[in-house]
Amino acid sequence: MCGIVGYIGKNKAVPVLINGLLSLEYRGYDSAGIAVLNNNKGNNNTYEEIEVIKDKGRVKNIQNSKKLINVEDSNIGIAHTRWATHGKPSKENAHPHLDNSKKIAVVHNGIIENYSEIRNFLYQNGYELYSETDTEVIPNLIHYYYNKNKDVLKAVSLALKKLKGSYAIEVISPIFNDEIIVAKKESPLVIGVGKNEKYIASDIPAILKYTKDFYFMDDNEIAVIKEDTIRFYDDDLKEKNKELKNIGWDAEASEKNGYEDYMLKEIYEQPKAIFETIGTTLNGRKIDLPLEEIDFGKINKIYIVACGTAMHAGMVAKYSIEKYCKISTEVDMASEFRYRNPIIDENTLCIFISQSGETADTIAALKLAKEKHSKTLSIVNVVGSTISRISDFVLYTHAGPEVAVASTKAYTCQLTLLNIAALYIAEKIAKNEKDLKEIEKVKEEIKLLPNKVKETLNTNQMIKKLAQKFYNSKDIFYIGRNIDYGACLEASLKLKEISYIHSEGYAAGELKHGPIALIEKGVPVIGIITEESLALKTISNIQEVITRGADVVIVTNKKIEDKNYMEVIKIPECISYLSPILSIIPMQLLAYYIAKNKELDVDKPRNLAKSVTVE
Ligand code: GLU
Repeated sequence: MCGIVGYIGKNKAVPVLINGLLSLEYRGYDSAGIAVLNNNKGNNNTYEEIEVIKDKGRVKNIQNSKKLINVEDSNIGIAHTRWATHGKPSKENAHPHLDNSKKIAVVHNGIIENYSEIRNFLYQNGYELYSETDTEVIPNLIHYYYNKNKDVLKAVSLALKKLKGSYAIEVISPIFNDEIIVAKKESPLVIGVGKNEKYIASDIPAILKYTKDFYFMDDNEIAVIKEDTIRFYDDDLKEKNKELKNIGWDAEASEKNGYEDYMLKEIYEQPKAIFETIGTTLNGRKIDLPLEEIDFGKINKIYIVACGTAMHAGMVAKYSIEKYCKISTEVDMASEFRYRNPIIDENTLCIFISQSGETADTIAALKLAKEKHSKTLSIVNVVGSTISRISDFVLYTHAGPEVAVASTKAYTCQLTLLNIAALYIAEKIAKNEKDLKEIEKVKEEIKLLPNKVKETLNTNQMIKKLAQKFYNSKDIFYIGRNIDYGACLEASLKLKEISYIHSEGYAAGELKHGPIALIEKGVPVIGIITEESLALKTISNIQEVITRGADVVIVTNKKIEDKNYMEVIKIPECISYLSPILSIIPMQLLAYYIAKNKELDVDKPRNLAKSVTVE
């Protein structure tokens, strides 16, 4: 998962590396490090040595390191913030890793699955390994091949061919002066292009303030990056051309802009993000989506496949897709779907949702759906990301960069776009005037969403007070039915990921089949009620928990009589299929303020990383 950064150019490398690492810390933060080529060029105008500065813990340990003074003039460097997979978080295991000759430095994102086999191979060839990581085999393997043929690029390519698993790597060495070699397979890597300088990163926000022009590396590609040129090769070192893409995000979008945390900023950006997402797809009364080639009349099944919050967007959207398109829709976790031989064929539309477009399990599930000849459609936020490139069709949310680990604006944009897509499909297969009229009505409601989201953000003060009451709770439950159940799952995930409070989202009717045993005096239960036809049913379930002593809060757009509720949070009126876009807003705020009350690091919750690029 981790983040990697690199710089080569006429300016100083260290500030770019440190800034990049700081903005990538959401990808991993148990240790960090940089390696730069020391600028004391020798007689041959070549770099003499590699300087490595690394430590356990946050990037600030590197930022505060006295050793930085020695390398401040360097113009070439690589950097890493780690999310440990093999070997505990420690200075020894932190990246960059050097080969035994200390002439090759590597940072790596991913997992080398056959690392023990390669370790044995290296031991047999006289190498020593000093860390517990899978990564350390890479610089040594490159060195092994370099010793044989004295061609660095060939050595990198031969080493990569030996690796099983996933990697995005950067390699620097005084042997191949004035360049950085990078390569990737199943882990993300982008190259940013400036004038006589090049930037490398796992993710765009890390280098967005320097450039908007990017190359997106594909699997099994190698690139040799110099300050003024980049050469791309396939795994057999055949040179290839790549398209430079301009990404429309502005640099400010990845700054905090006065907010205390990215998460709060991103919660408040939702009206704009949803407005932008609607603006690119719903023009007047016409829905404009690049899906003309799909014959929806032939689609008899829809699968939505995703992980975490994106999967919750799918669970909510299932209801509107089934309602408007009348096509049976299943939702599955990508990590399960990929291993369970799903019954899908060319008449199945598989929709893959991922903010980053780099989620490893979702990529694998997408590949499986393609093997089975299903139509594949992705919903992603990052233009040019792996999922967007592999799928047959792609729709982009226009949330802008999302930095906080806990997803907020990407989620509500995914929901908005899924609803728009549902209406597009429904329109294509509508059987009568009545259906079409209903679709028109929903389109008008979608256009009102940005303002309604803005209005919903006014619940802020009330939520702050509620957070003060709840932040010491051991468990919190969220209950709702149908579309509100999907919202409960997401509300619960938001809370547990950043506040570390145990929470569960439950279908209200299921509660009495087990979890109600956990309800006792003072346990907070939050009921989400926006489904008109089910409101009374959920209210009965809520009475059941009140009887057992729960402190109940209701989130609703209905008129609800006060029946011993601790609080009723009113959200704007809206048709029920869109209401989860509103009901989640106070729940995001609640998770945020509870975590703040507990003085936790909201943007970087423990054990989590954004863009889960490992299986
Ligand atoms: N597998 C490597 C390690 O544990 C890289 C992990 C990462 O992607 O941060 O060091």
